[in-house]
Amino acid sequence: MTRRPLSVRRLVVKVGSGLIATPGTGLEPERIAALAVEIAGVAGPAEVVVVSSGAIAAGAARLGLRRRPRSIPEKQAAAAAGQAALMWHYEQAFAAHGLRVAQVLLTQEDISHRPRYLNARNTLLTLLAHRLLPIVNENDTVAVEEIKVGDNDNLSALVAHLVDADLLVLLSDTDGLYTGDPRRDPAARRIDVVEAITPEMERLAGLTEGPLGTGGMLTKLEAAQKATAAGVAMVIADGRAPGVLRAVLAGEPVGTYFRPRADRLAARKRWIAFASPPQGLLHVDAGAHRALVAGGKSLLPSGVVKVEGEFSAGDAVGLVDPEGREFARGVVSYDAREVALLRGAKTAEIERILGYRVLDEIIHRDNLVLF
Ligand code: GLU
Repeated sequence: MTRRPLSVRRLVVKVGSGLIATPGTGLEPERIAALAVEIAGVAGPAEVVVVSSGAIAAGAARLGLRRRPRSIPEKQAAAAAGQAALMWHYEQAFAAHGLRVAQVLLTQEDISHRPRYLNARNTLLTLLAHRLLPIVNENDTVAVEEIKVGDNDNLSALVAHLVDADLLVLLSDTDGLYTGDPRRDPAARRIDVVEAITPEMERLAGLTEGPLGTGGMLTKLEAAQKATAAGVAMVIADGRAPGVLRAVLAGEPVGTYFRPRADRLAARKRWIAFASPPQGLLHVDAGAHRALVAGGKSLLPSGVVKVEGEFSAGDAVGLVDPEGREFARGVVSYDAREVALLRGAKTAEIERILGYRVLDEIIHRDNLVLF
């Protein structure tokens, strides 16, 4: 399959640590300047949001550490020290092209909590409307390790959803996805276009891990899953190659292009499917499974056989079929206690059971995303 020029209104460019920092010595200003040339070359006709790693790598050098810090306090301190240096360099590098930057630090909670998600979205869109270049990173200094997004590949896919981008470009120090590990296997070749991510690709990706950042190929494939399933194209490309972003937009065969699988999911459905870790699970019977998957129906109380987790009305939950597979996500109209009471009941009985009725549906079709 060949590639065509991409019509891109808004893109997210993720910059990996390995591209702008060296272990031990920290940031490389000339690399950042070169990236600014790349990004400035496409900004304007397209709106650009940058997601940049490198804070921890930069900060580690400031703390006098030779390698990536391992303990949480060290990582968080490194992020604090390094983020300032990172932004200082970006500020200067983009100013040389007349571009003004803005720093946006996000945590998982800003993404999984719907009001905060909408708030972050409004902030980013307002920055773009004022022609600023948002530079996003995870707020590593305050984010608690257990509930972090954890890597900027996944974060950048979530940001692409957040700002409704058409394209996500992961710039790193590798020039794409290979059929094997190119450092060990001379026959390994770059894959130009990925139509669908296969288990074999995931297996190969699991074998590579970058020395500096958090992400290896596995997190890049996770990002590709998130992006393409929501209708956002993704490219992994070599951020050191001059003209790389222009070439990507022109549809030239650089890096690896992941074709978007679906039509673009509406913004709200993207959030339901990807942003919010499900707060619980609803097991449904075969009839409800069929009605949801083939019939385009909503989930009614009668189809629910089991309720897991402590969720509130308005939370996202996963739907599990009789074989135990999660096949959909949706936002519930009732909390876990209420759904447990309503389980198996007819809609006409809701009011009698609860003493009130919010909606007939446990999950309305509009709040449901099938996988
Ligand atoms: N947020 C981390 C940093 O700025 C990087 C995470 C990653 O490497 O994916 O250093």
